[in-house]
Amino acid sequence: MIQSYKQNPTVQENYDTIIIGSGMGAMATGAILAKEGQKVLILERHYTAGGFTHIFKRKGYEWDVGIHYIGEVQRKGSVMKSLFDYITDGQLKWADIGNVYDRIIIGDKSYDFVKGVKNFKKQLVSYFPEEEKAINDYIGLVFKAVKTSRNYYISKALPPVLNALIGGFMKRPFYKLADKTTYEVLKSLTDNEALIKVLCGQYGDYGLPPKQSSFYMHASVVRHYFDGGSFPIGGSSQIVKTIDPVIAAAGGTILINAEVAEVIIENNTAKGVKMSDGKTFYAKNIISNAGIMTTYNKLLPENIVAKHQLKAQLQKVKRSVAHVSLYVGFEESPEALNLPKTNHWIYPKDGDHDSCVNRYLKDINQEFPMVYLSFPSAKDPDWSNRYPDKSTIDIITLVPYETFEPWAGSRWKKRGADYEALKEKIAQRLLAELYKQIPQVEGKVKYYELSTPLTTQHFVNYEKGEIYGLDHSPSRFRQDFLKPKTPIKNFYLTGQDIVTAGVGGALFAGVLTAMAITGKNVLKKVIK
Ligand SMILES: Cc1cc2nc3c(=O)[nH]c(=O)nc-3n(C[C@H](O)[C@H](O)[C@H](O)COP(=O)(O)OP(=O)(O)OC[C@H]3O[C@@H](n4cnc5c(N)ncnc54)[C@H](O)[C@@H]3O)c2cc1C
Repeated sequence: MIQSYKQNPTVQENYDTIIIGSGMGAMATGAILAKEGQKVLILERHYTAGGFTHIFKRKGYEWDVGIHYIGEVQRKGSVMKSLFDYITDGQLKWADIGNVYDRIIIGDKSYDFVKGVKNFKKQLVSYFPEEEKAINDYIGLVFKAVKTSRNYYISKALPPVLNALIGGFMKRPFYKLADKTTYEVLKSLTDNEALIKVLCGQYGDYGLPPKQSSFYMHASVVRHYFDGGSFPIGGSSQIVKTIDPVIAAAGGTILINAEVAEVIIENNTAKGVKMSDGKTFYAKNIISNAGIMTTYNKLLPENIVAKHQLKAQLQKVKRSVAHVSLYVGFEESPEALNLPKTNHWIYPKDGDHDSCVNRYLKDINQEFPMVYLSFPSAKDPDWSNRYPDKSTIDIITLVPYETFEPWAGSRWKKRGADYEALKEKIAQRLLAELYKQIPQVEGKVKYYELSTPLTTQHFVNYEKGEIYGLDHSPSRFRQDFLKPKTPIKNFYLTGQDIVTAGVGGALFAGVLTAMAITGKNVLKKVIK
């Protein structure tokens, strides 16, 4: 049972493993370790568990923060579906969001990404008939990049000696495509910039435009959604609700309102954690799901950070983008408003993605480089049972953290009139984008609230509001330290930073961390 640290929770005398943070990576690691018989304590600083899978409720509505669609979970036998079934004892159910999972809108043209790789290809060829070969070759490279990633990731969980022996060999094929940018690979297939712009229409899923992102990251997202997108029935909060009993069955506990201040380390061995109120918990293994930046900058003692030159490691990676999200509420059902399930990605008519992003990052009054519309209430078949005659829409765009930096250090809800005025200006711009695409909702908005990078900082503890942890550039995938094992004995990492952003990435990070701790190939068990 999820309990609040502030309300005298029932805790065990001893835990086998403590996990800092309760994101997807933490929940997956915790559930797998629980199935291996471990008593796990998950400590979450927020008032609700789940990391970016958490929901929040306001004025009779509910919004999902970091889940709009997940791929590969409808297909029986897929690794993703098997993993979710394993860690939730089959209790988490998914709703297919339909044939067209993403619509890419560029100026006044729109392009549908259709479920099923053959349909995807056919649809794209219908838009760009002269590019059939390039499209075919592109799909081949997407599969190739993803295929070569398997050994790359498995090598991250190998014991150091084995990794030294065969790790390089396992990773080499992966680097062939991961070392290149998305644009480099696409440009090698076609000179058609319009096609390239469409193919990169999901770059918002990892936050980095094609001239900066690794082709592997692009391919992994594209491949992930080839079979369509799905949404958790009952909303994202079902993820933690269905994992909690699995952890509890082995004597484990999830505590919310439980902020860890520091990892306790003696003789270069992690022993426990000190909470922000000074209390301590001890366990054999300590795992951080708080992101590598927060972990190394804030949670480890300075002498340990210096001893292992961990700050030098952080210099080699960059934080991902920050975002604003407008949560909008209506007092009519999704059916009455005729809301689609398809995600809408809206891009400027002119310029490639990189130049649109660069122009906007210099001056956010320029055209948004990307606006994303998601319709969670329409995607969830259980929504109207919980919220009859209501619906919600999320509208997201990128924003530099620096835009909101002047208010850093101010308190949530008390950041002042000029902060609110800036938010209002952005909110109105985003609503105008919504009305262009979904005109039937104009005049019907009953509630809206804009989150900023400071909201992400406040609730999920990413220092600069970076939504995807680390940037997914080619060099990120060259960093050997982005793996479960750290130079500190019994201290491990999990979550999006050691694999990739995305619920699937964080979930798989959970598998790798559980493998590194137990020394067992838990994946074999899951797939069986
Ligand atoms: C707007 C948005 C939309 C997204 N949409 C999708 C989508 O449609 N599909 C998809 O697959 N992915 C999506 N993602 C990405 C996905 O949600 C994340 O990549 C994934 O959930 C990250 O999981 P994680 O395990 O790294 O942990 P996180 O979710 O990052 O959680 C880390 C947790 O650690 C806690 N923590 C930090 N410091 C401490 C401390 N000192 N003490 C205790 N706890 C601490 C934090 O409060 C947080 O709960 C989206 C993300 C965002 C932001």
